[in-house]
Amino acid sequence: MGNIVAIVGRPNVGKSTLFNRLIEGKKAIMDNESGVTRDRHYGYGEWTDKHFTVIDTGGYVTGSDDVFEEAIRSQVREALEEASVILFMVDCHDGLTGLDQDFARVVRGMKKPVLVVANKADTTEKAHMVGEFYGLGLGDVYPISSANGSGTGELLDEVIKHF
Ligand code: GDP
Ligand code: MG
Repeated sequence: MGNIVAIVGRPNVGKSTLFNRLIEGKKAIMDNESGVTRDRHYGYGEWTDKHFTVIDTGGYVTGSDDVFEEAIRSQVREALEEASVILFMVDCHDGLTGLDQDFARVVRGMKKPVLVVANKADTTEKAHMVGEFYGLGLGDVYPISSANGSGTGELLDEVIKHF
């Protein structure tokens, strides 16, 4: 499948909004041996001359008391295993949460390139929230706004370096 970018993080940080922006309608129809229909989670993106598959995660997490357990068990784990680059998304409005820390622990164990994406940095003031996310110990933090697109070019410049 070539270069695969997986977007993970707790619910409502904006993963699907970024996914839709990256694929711009290019939903992938995947051949898959397992027979599980999962086309809605996959799309095609491109940046400069680089092509990649994007995986969205978390869309089917339902009413469990333990959101993290539910989410991590299947699709997140699968996406992390498939990924060439992991986009670990957090939320500048909410700041760092316990659930972020739980996800970070799993991501850290993957031993793959991880970019911390601080979403909802719609304004310069919000972009200054990035500092606390360095506390995750996952390296550089990329402030973006999936809603208005700011920062996504810089993020993609970095992503394609790992292909
Ligand atoms: P997911 O659960 O991580 O997939 O998050 P969604 O993409 O569904 O977004 C959750 C909520 O955050 C929605 O109401 C989005 O409109 C909102 N959202 C997503 N990206 C941004 C952003 O960059 N800025 C702001 N202000 N809101 C955003
Ligand atoms: Mg989603």
